[in-house]
Amino acid sequence: TRNFFVGGNWKMNGSLSQVNSLVEILNNASVPSNTEVVVAPPAIYIDRVRQAVKKEIEVAAQNCYYKASGAFTGEISPEQLKDMGINWVIIGHSERREIFGESDDFVGAKTQYALSAGLGVIACIGEKLDERESGKTEEVCFRQLKAIAEHVKDWSHVVVAYEPVWAIGTGKVATPEQAQETHAALRKWLAENVSKEAANNTRILYGGSVNGKNAAELGKKEDIDGFLVGGASLKPEFADIIAASS
Ligand code: 13P
Repeated sequence: TRNFFVGGNWKMNGSLSQVNSLVEILNNASVPSNTEVVVAPPAIYIDRVRQAVKKEIEVAAQNCYYKASGAFTGEISPEQLKDMGINWVIIGHSERREIFGESDDFVGAKTQYALSAGLGVIACIGEKLDERESGKTEEVCFRQLKAIAEHVKDWSHVVVAYEPVWAIGTGKVATPEQAQETHAALRKWLAENVSKEAANNTRILYGGSVNGKNAAELGKKEDIDGFLVGGASLKPEFADIIAASS
């Protein structure tokens, strides 16, 4: 049995006062005992959130580099995240891939390094609209997952987030059936290419226009083990999404 996992990716949003309000919402949210909640604020607010948020809620970075220290202007290392009490990082988000040109190999290298430094990794994959429309959903997702899987020895610290790019920030959520179909295919890929254990135990999250209304329906599907939430993680309804899992 896989514990439910709800991630909130705040992306480059918020101000200090909004961050404080979000922390208050989180601290008032009831977290079901079988649910893990991890929020990812912009880097500059990470420590404030970690210090102010209740213990049941974990804090993640939205990105990191694959060195411990050095001349890498603008980057943060996994060691620095650990030093500040951060145990999770999102890697390979489609916005990192698309806007900042991160390749499959780069995503794989960062995953390997982050895991070796002791972070848990929320590894993101997902197809674009034209790829779905040309029947390439599985081909693209398997290619991205392979580039990650090649660098993972211990799957217990990896959560896979399936985020179809056409569903991100568009209000066009995948139907529960569409999401389940891809999640099942990803789990089968893990069973065939990694191990039965990895397939059975690895949480596969859905991301893309999840909100307080559609979360419960999606979460009922057999292979959907949680969510990675963008826009709605900045609103009070994030508490409803957390509750939707129980
Ligand atoms: P939205 O929930 O805003 O569609 O974003 C999803 C996402 O990209 C989470 O990482």
